[in-house]
Amino acid sequence: MFLGHFALAFGAKRLAPSVSLGTLFLACQFADLLWPTLVLIGLEHVEVDPGNTLVTPLNFVSYPYSHSLVMLLLWSALFAIAYIAGRGTSAVTAASIVAALVFSHYVLDVITHRPDMPITIGGATKVGFGLWNHPGATLAVESAMFLACTAVYTGATRARDAIGRAGLWALIVVLVAIYFAALYGPPPPSSHSIAVAGHLTWLFVIWAYWIDKHRQQARGTGTRH
Ligand SMILES: [Zn+2]
Repeated sequence: MFLGHFALAFGAKRLAPSVSLGTLFLACQFADLLWPTLVLIGLEHVEVDPGNTLVTPLNFVSYPYSHSLVMLLLWSALFAIAYIAGRGTSAVTAASIVAALVFSHYVLDVITHRPDMPITIGGATKVGFGLWNHPGATLAVESAMFLACTAVYTGATRARDAIGRAGLWALIVVLVAIYFAALYGPPPPSSHSIAVAGHLTWLFVIWAYWIDKHRQQARGTGTRH
């Protein structure tokens, strides 16, 4: 899943207006931000395998540190601790939402992947409901989530200036364009190229931090905390 992860981050801004969109992006995509680095250093493994599912040409051979149930629970707890350490105990609600977003990555990937999502680091049990075997349903679910949640975000915030407006729309267009390019484009040439390109996801996190500074909470959408 790609757009669906970002969708939850956009939607979460309504629940946690004090949290930067950049932090929400970092949380929802933490597993996919960690993964390419772990692939590059050889701790996790992916293969190009056109037809692995109808949607993705990738065979996720092994990714227990970035994508197992136990590690996502741990990463999510560490995010909560780090957030409270940085912002104080008054930020417990915001920290919980950030932590929930980190864990949401596991839930959404289990729905989309074939049974390749590990439970533990060393265990052989893997789960996945395989939405990716149904391209039409994948497209419908992700598009609906993205449309609904970006609408929530644009309702909950408003631009302070032109950057806050144009930067947001540019981000949305680029995310959608990359999604469709991955869906209908040729498979990547190698696992190395996937890992290198995967690091570009950090640009979206930086982009979201930048946009967040140029937008503010819309009036009448809850209290800041
Ligand atoms: Zn993932």
